[in-house]
Amino acid sequence: MTTANTPEEVRREIRQWIAGHWDPELSLDQWRALLADSGWARPAWPREWCGRSLPGALAAVAAAELRRAVVPGPAEGVGMMLVAPMLLEYGSEELKRRFIRPTVTGEITWCQLFSEPGAGSDLAGLQARAIREGDAWLVTGQKVWSTGAATADLGLLLARTDADVPKHRGITAFVLPMRQPGVQVRPLRQMNGHSSFNEVFLDAARVPARYVIGEPGGGWTVARATLSHERRLAAFPSLPAAEGQAWREAIAERNAATEPHKWYPQRAGRPDLAIPQAQATGREADPLVRQEIARLIELAWSARWMEERAAVAREAGQHAVGSLGKLASSKIARQAARVHAMIAGASGMLAGPGSPLGGVVAEILVSVPGISIAGGTDEIQRTIIAERMLGLPREPDISKGVPFRQMRAG
Ligand SMILES: Cc1cc2nc3c(=O)[nH]c(=O)nc-3n(C[C@H](O)[C@H](O)[C@H](O)COP(=O)(O)OP(=O)(O)OC[C@H]3O[C@@H](n4cnc5c(N)ncnc54)[C@H](O)[C@@H]3O)c2cc1C
Repeated sequence: MTTANTPEEVRREIRQWIAGHWDPELSLDQWRALLADSGWARPAWPREWCGRSLPGALAAVAAAELRRAVVPGPAEGVGMMLVAPMLLEYGSEELKRRFIRPTVTGEITWCQLFSEPGAGSDLAGLQARAIREGDAWLVTGQKVWSTGAATADLGLLLARTDADVPKHRGITAFVLPMRQPGVQVRPLRQMNGHSSFNEVFLDAARVPARYVIGEPGGGWTVARATLSHERRLAAFPSLPAAEGQAWREAIAERNAATEPHKWYPQRAGRPDLAIPQAQATGREADPLVRQEIARLIELAWSARWMEERAAVAREAGQHAVGSLGKLASSKIARQAARVHAMIAGASGMLAGPGSPLGGVVAEILVSVPGISIAGGTDEIQRTIIAERMLGLPREPDISKGVPFRQMRAG
């Protein structure tokens, strides 16, 4: 295992390792297994769980080297971004052993089953309930907006296990096996024409008792940690046009994994297209367009610097900083949409052949609102920043001390 403790040493070590192990004709499974067992899959994670216990800055150097060497990385998506980091913090040894490595290698995929028809911002008001029966829990209720649930193997589920205590204290986090008779998934259609979300109906769905994450009743802590990871969800990095078996499989996997997220670049506002579009349409000399593009670039740069600061704060255990990045992404997306609308004018509303960017501008305009909602709305991020970072008075909470059963929920 690594002894490297400077960027140069990390670079040298990982380069040597890649030179000794990478073969484009390996299958993706074989390559990811090597990556997981070497600890280079997620160098910041603990050694025993596919990592090398490197500090964040050195782990970033290793990740950059993997990209530079044009080799596939570990699996992507909700499992790697949300579930695995949360399991590392709160999962039992058994849950870690069962789920971390197959998540890293991509053998299992995940969805997040938090939101309900009556519980989004007020997530702690959720009503899906789990009842203990022998060595299992039986879960009944409805989830909604569950991205990727139609294809996921497992769900990270929040359910109420005790209605006689205040709402935050009676929630438990579970790993729910999705492929079972008690789980029914129905896709929803969005205004941008895509179908990433699902409704999930749970009817006595079975969860083994050992699949509880943390303690029964401790689900709120797990939920908060998960949401703080979600608030810094990065876009999928672009894949190189590389050859070989492992890359063919990685590209096929990416296409399948990103099917529900195809519109996410548009959701982020496509700031990368602002200058090329201004140039292509002859608007680059327009002082108003230039001014709005400059604002966009200013926002994007300051968000990048803030994210670097936030990474350090997170290592020191300050999770609320994720809200700053989440809020910044919403602002950037809205400003990018504004620039695209200025450049395209009314024709930006058109889709189909001959429309601006073949309909991409129209898709940006109807997708950008999603980023201000997913993972906690802008208003909720502002409340978190106000209360947990600025120390302002807390929002009045009428549920304080009241057993959930006595509350009007939904
Ligand atoms: C792209 C996308 C992907 C998603 N993926 C998932 C997923 O995979 N799994 C999952 O579980 N959920 C998912 N969601 C759901 C998301 O977490 C919820 O939509 C979000 O938390 C908001 O909840 P809501 O839709 O019920 O809105 P509500 O909570 O009903 O909010 C409605 C409005 O009221 C405002 N509001 C509510 N409470 C307050 C308050 N206390 N103070 C000020 N304003 C307030 C909100 O800001 C909002 O403007 C996804 C959503 C989107 C858009």
